[in-house]
Amino acid sequence: MNPEVPIEGDDYSGPGSTDGQPIRYVPRRFPANDHAAIEASLGRGKYAEILYEAGYKSARHWCDKKARTHGLTRMAVFEHYLERLSRGGWGRFSFIQADEAGGCADIRLDYSDFILAQGEICAAKTCYIFAGWFAGAMDWVGEQTRDKGGTPLRTLCCEARCGAEGYDHCVFAVRPKAMSAV
Ligand SMILES: [Zn+2]
Repeated sequence: MNPEVPIEGDDYSGPGSTDGQPIRYVPRRFPANDHAAIEASLGRGKYAEILYEAGYKSARHWCDKKARTHGLTRMAVFEHYLERLSRGGWGRFSFIQADEAGGCADIRLDYSDFILAQGEICAAKTCYIFAGWFAGAMDWVGEQTRDKGGTPLRTLCCEARCGAEGYDHCVFAVRPKAMSAV
């Protein structure tokens, strides 16, 4: 089966870019090993916090760029984001429900790359790396929706349940931040 994501090759550096953004292509085990080593060193809480902020920024950048490249707007960009993550090998992402105006979404993840790399039940939520990505995408959508004035909603995301705890899939919940926390 050929890759479902268009990859522009480069004569010197191999697979080079998709939609004009540079990419890399590595075995699943490599980033999983990095991830485990950094988590062990920093502690899960601190590492999750750092990843959340970095992922939040990356998701917003991605949405901005794809919106311009493909002429997509608002939730269509978020849907495209889930599709591209799925095709990129991170797992299979889909919306269980999404409420653009309310800043809410539940996202289902099947075949999480981090669970497959771990290969065992560990009774702990394992895929927290994705949480900041979905809050970033939802906040980007919120800014597009309210660009005619008003304060855009800010959201938070957490992995509400994880396949690593024994469920058959993971669920991420995006919810608006409490007004006092904005
Ligand atoms: Zn999970």
